[in-house]
Amino acid sequence: MVTTHNLGFPRIGSNRELKFALEKYWKGALSEQALLEMAAALRAQHWQDQAALDWIPAGDFSLYDHVLDTSFMLGNIPSRFGTLPGNEIDSYFRAARGRSVSDNAACSCVNAGEMTKWFDTNYHYIVPEFDKNTRFSLHAGHLLEQIQQAKQLNYQIKPVILGPVTYLWLGKSKDGSDKLELLDDLLSVYAQLLHALKNADIQWVQIDEPVLVMELTQEWKHALRKAYYQLQATSPNLLLTTYFGQLQDNLQLACELPVSGLHLDTTTAYDEVAKVIDWLPSHKILSLGVVNGRNIWKTDLTKTLDWLEPIHARLQDRLWLAPSCSLLHVPVNLDSEQKLDAEIRSWLAFAVQKLSEIELLANALDHGRDSVATALWENSAVVTSRRQSKRVHQAAVKARVLEIDDALGTRQSPYHQRTIVQRQKFQLPLFPTTTIGSFPQTQEIRQTRRDFREGRLSESAYRQAMREEIETCVREQEALGLDVLVHGEPERNDMVEYFGEQLAGYAFTQFGWVQSYGSRCVKPPIIYGDVLHSQAITTEWIQYAQSLTSKPMKGMLTGPVTMLNWSFVRDDQPRADTCLQLALAIRDEVLALEKAGIRIIQIDEAALREGLPLRKSQWNDYLDWAVRAFRVTANGVSDETQIHTHMCYSEFNDIMEAIARMDADVITIETSRSDMELLDAFDQFHYPNEIGPGVYDIHSPNIPSIDSIIELMEKAAQRIPAERLWVNPDCGLKTRNWDEVKPALRNMIAASRYLSTAARAG
Ligand code: GLN
Ligand code: ZN
Repeated sequence: MVTTHNLGFPRIGSNRELKFALEKYWKGALSEQALLEMAAALRAQHWQDQAALDWIPAGDFSLYDHVLDTSFMLGNIPSRFGTLPGNEIDSYFRAARGRSVSDNAACSCVNAGEMTKWFDTNYHYIVPEFDKNTRFSLHAGHLLEQIQQAKQLNYQIKPVILGPVTYLWLGKSKDGSDKLELLDDLLSVYAQLLHALKNADIQWVQIDEPVLVMELTQEWKHALRKAYYQLQATSPNLLLTTYFGQLQDNLQLACELPVSGLHLDTTTAYDEVAKVIDWLPSHKILSLGVVNGRNIWKTDLTKTLDWLEPIHARLQDRLWLAPSCSLLHVPVNLDSEQKLDAEIRSWLAFAVQKLSEIELLANALDHGRDSVATALWENSAVVTSRRQSKRVHQAAVKARVLEIDDALGTRQSPYHQRTIVQRQKFQLPLFPTTTIGSFPQTQEIRQTRRDFREGRLSESAYRQAMREEIETCVREQEALGLDVLVHGEPERNDMVEYFGEQLAGYAFTQFGWVQSYGSRCVKPPIIYGDVLHSQAITTEWIQYAQSLTSKPMKGMLTGPVTMLNWSFVRDDQPRADTCLQLALAIRDEVLALEKAGIRIIQIDEAALREGLPLRKSQWNDYLDWAVRAFRVTANGVSDETQIHTHMCYSEFNDIMEAIARMDADVITIETSRSDMELLDAFDQFHYPNEIGPGVYDIHSPNIPSIDSIIELMEKAAQRIPAERLWVNPDCGLKTRNWDEVKPALRNMIAASRYLSTAARAG
């Protein structure tokens, strides 16, 4: 018999119950006990949703983040959290958010643990902190409680833990010491943990080592060997899981580690399965992750069975089936979606539906395809309908992509020539000031949008209200004295959703929430078909804003790479192809703005860096098509139209050369939080165009002083000639209020005036 299991289930709840409970608890409106009861109820619900599986995960639930849970379980809590008053849950949320429910806002706040992306997903974990004095100790109470709860409910469970080597890999050494020096101490605690699980009568433990899909040095490979040889004696059966990529030169190592089973993500490592079967010793089970745990499409079950049947014939009972990775990265249940177009809905599977697919595949293998004939037939019908749908395939879009050539993505003249034309036209001062696009999204603005969406406000009343917002925003900017203005983006809920909603090929769910971090969820749009721009999206707003002022008005768009990276994407064509379709659609919008007389256009690529592949060896390929897509979007304009782009993340020294190839006239980037460290990259690499290093952190309510801005800009001016520098905040201002924005921008403008006067004098 084939064994079915799951690597992890979404924690947030199908109605985001956990999010709302957490936020209530943080506000002091829910007791600790009520929060914990709600968490236990959610777990029970999730186990019930998975009841048909042979092995159900336990310990995959978390109140905030599973990596933070692991740090607590291993006694690795930085002292700044542990020494403050309060109980364990207070320290836990302090480590997650910088404050706990019992801290009053003014006093005992500490810096939260740093947060970063979980491999190449959009989930963020709290980075473990290490130094040479770090010592581990076991605190497995919470895990054992969850196991106890599941057992009481009579579920056959498989605890899930993060492997020791991946745990070290994900953390950060605070004093520059070698993290691997901590391995021995860490392993002794893992040995105790596994021993405790064995004593709790656990047969299988899932131990996640996704680090096996990364490029590993000899030291890290050795750490894996050492870890599993050492843990083997005290452990229940270990199922070692890898996901998100291929094993490549770690394949042999993964097969040989002394564990009882290996899990492979066959959505990314399909080509490696045959080799793994050859290498894997015959006493080990092989778990194949055949259903994509990161995307929302139904699996082609017949095609999967064609492939699985011979594997099953060979492996027999050694074959286990599961989703490719934890289902944390997909929404919970498609049944909640009542408004989604019926045809598109028929193509989708969320977490609950994905587990049914696993069941079906296992039944077909065990009892023959005839035993599930109807379900297979229905699956084939929807797979075929999607493959052939006219809504998916638009010949004209595909033809246009094929016609893209280098000329389409190349400006008329190189930067050093067109900048002369632009300077003549805009007559901007030295150190020109601008913002990144959005201005405060007040309660009233959000309410107006909601009223319009839900039919309580007519279209004309809505437009009028938005025009008034735009006018307020323009007047404020004029009064402050900014050089290049924006309309403020009041009409936008989200920078991707807003554009997606107006392009063909995009669909939106009502409840398709996915955890991003802690209580924060995102609802990624779904790109289901060829993307088409049929009418101008932004021109009306931007033109109106321009009509209010004689200063240049900057048009604001979201770039193709960001549109792609923050959506669920098609699995029936390469990401690069979808990205080029998006590029053509946004290009049409760029040209529409230009035609409408807008001479400065910003194309945000906030998420460009997020798409980088896990292995560095694949970076160039990604950057090549991502840069090409941006160039197609941006570079069809005339010399005198100025293209800006904006990026959010401070670490991109290593991709600076690719960013330069985008050939935007101006790039605005986040730098203030790194104290302009980013600019070190310019010592080696001479960025040829203009740049606006963000001079203050918009994530903080603090008002930056004039001096601090001058100091940062002077640092910048040491690397980049003054005539190519802009002055702007780090990112959009939509999360701030006007009382913060006005004094901050006032100081920013004063700093710019000081700098330009000083430059002219000196
Ligand atoms: N133009 C967007 C804004 O100002 C950019 C947001 C972002 O970079 N994340 O809000
Ligand atoms: Zn930004």
